[in-house]
Amino acid sequence: MGHQRERQQLSSAAPARLVPRAPSRAASAGATSIAGRLARLQRTIGNEGVQRVLARARNAQPALQRMTTEARQVASAENRAELDASTGWGLTSMQDFRARLRLIEHAPAEPDDDPTWEPQVSGVTVDYATDSRLLPNVTEVPAPPGLTTADTFAQQLDDLQSLGGSPGDAAEWYMIRAVEDHEQVHVKALRETLDAMKVAMEMRLLQGLRPVGDERAMARLSIQQQWAENVATVRALYNDATGDIGESDHAPGGATDTAEHAVVDPMIAQIEAYARAQRFRPEDSFEALMALIDRHAAEAAGPAPAT
Ligand SMILES: [Zn+2]
Repeated sequence: MGHQRERQQLSSAAPARLVPRAPSRAASAGATSIAGRLARLQRTIGNEGVQRVLARARNAQPALQRMTTEARQVASAENRAELDASTGWGLTSMQDFRARLRLIEHAPAEPDDDPTWEPQVSGVTVDYATDSRLLPNVTEVPAPPGLTTADTFAQQLDDLQSLGGSPGDAAEWYMIRAVEDHEQVHVKALRETLDAMKVAMEMRLLQGLRPVGDERAMARLSIQQQWAENVATVRALYNDATGDIGESDHAPGGATDTAEHAVVDPMIAQIEAYARAQRFRPEDSFEALMALIDRHAAEAAGPAPAT
């Protein structure tokens, strides 16, 4: 291993374009001095010794860091529109997946030889968007007394206890924060999966990329095609992994249910206490009254004919 320096960065969005990155003065000076010290150390104590020193030296990280990962929230009109066009309360989705490659120059063993260039992954960035809403015709439940009356309290309790209604029984009341906290469970999955897959991603992104003897050949030939394919593959692997986790988060009693209960359960307790104090009874509610009238009417008409 010879003297190393970061030559340039390639983005997956524009793999063919080479834009030399000018490091800041401070970063450049730091990298040079660390790399210089490493090279000297290596000559005197060999690779094994350098690895041991690296493991101890806190400030050695910038010179030989492995790839970094970052998940960033972005605003997305598409995500918002897709949510609004759906029957869902919230939507969290990956908007972009970018991987950056850098070429490391290895100095030749003999002064007359050419240097060789080795690809390394410098970082992966995931952009995600998350949006939440109350479904049309659903009203936010404020703390009682708020909108809690003899007519509304039973439906409020039903809708909160069922976490926003059930198929065939649409909710009239809910809390936006329960939806937001549900979506945050998916955001957490996006972030944690990125960390969990970091090493596997790095290895898969580098698959098929070999050190070559010429910087331009490396950039134009090896990288352009293979790198773009690798990024597409890893993007798909990551997307599948987060999709699987999202599915399991939705299991009854799972992470999203737990997140919503943490918001609605205290409100349920407040409404129950208020209803008890006000001596509301289910029979007081308009819906309960109508149900009673319907039942009496049905009984008077006799059993329904079989169909
Ligand atoms: Zn969900």
